[in-house]
Amino acid sequence: MVECPICGAEVEFGAHTVVGELMECGDCGTELEVLNLKPVTLGEAPETEEDWGQ
Ligand SMILES: [Zn+2]
Repeated sequence: MVECPICGAEVEFGAHTVVGELMECGDCGTELEVLNLKPVTLGEAPETEEDWGQ
């Protein structure tokens, strides 16, 4: 389990999760993206999948 960066709730984190994977916080409903695995870091996913601005 990892902590949602938005609301602090615990988010279920699968053993096969990879960087870039999107998941949704069951508590606040925010779409989260896996930014890093060691340590596990989640960030708020961009609203549009291919609009990274860089
Ligand atoms: Zn949340």
